[in-house]
Amino acid sequence: MIKDSEFITSNEVPGPTKEEIRCLLLCKSEVSSEDIVVDIGCGTGGIATEFAKRAKKVIAIDKNPKAIKLTLENLQKHDVDKKVELIENDGVLAVKSIENIDIAIIGGSGGDLDQILETVSSKLNQNGRIIINAILADTKVQAVNKLKELGYKPNIIEANISKGKIIERGIMMIAENPIAIIYSKL
Ligand code: SAH
Repeated sequence: MIKDSEFITSNEVPGPTKEEIRCLLLCKSEVSSEDIVVDIGCGTGGIATEFAKRAKKVIAIDKNPKAIKLTLENLQKHDVDKKVELIENDGVLAVKSIENIDIAIIGGSGGDLDQILETVSSKLNQNGRIIINAILADTKVQAVNKLKELGYKPNIIEANISKGKIIERGIMMIAENPIAIIYSKL
């Protein structure tokens, strides 16, 4: 696993997705060296970099050019840039040009979640997996409902991670924002 501090960050781009969450995503997605992974809303490149180390290929998409640039820097830093195709475009449009998705990870949708899910679903291989990371309560409900409508049986977990900080008097647990992971197989 790559430590959070090992990513180049920018205050203009969100991410990276925290190490413990990346860990859950790797595990729940059951990623293998045969998989083609699409990361929609790649941000800092935390998820794209982590999956590139394990998958056959990653296609990382973001509508923000600064996110694409930062993702490339992180991929290069971790020596996995050759396994990743970067697309600067809106998620829906970008996914339309892709065939054969084994794993789709949606980390940012900017109000287009329904359309992104419809498009991803039509491109997903047999045994394909869709994973959504949601911070907003609204996105959690929307993701579950849309996946149900598309014929999936979604699972939803919420990770509430606290990290211990060793201080003079003992261990202080510091909470991170809860994040839901909605994941589904066909
Ligand atoms: N998982 C990332 C962080 C994601 S932040 C990491 O580990 O670094 C969410 C990103 O989604 C932002 O960079 C934002 O620009 C992008 N985004 C939001 N809506 C989008 C859309 N409709 N199409 C493409 N990118 C989108």
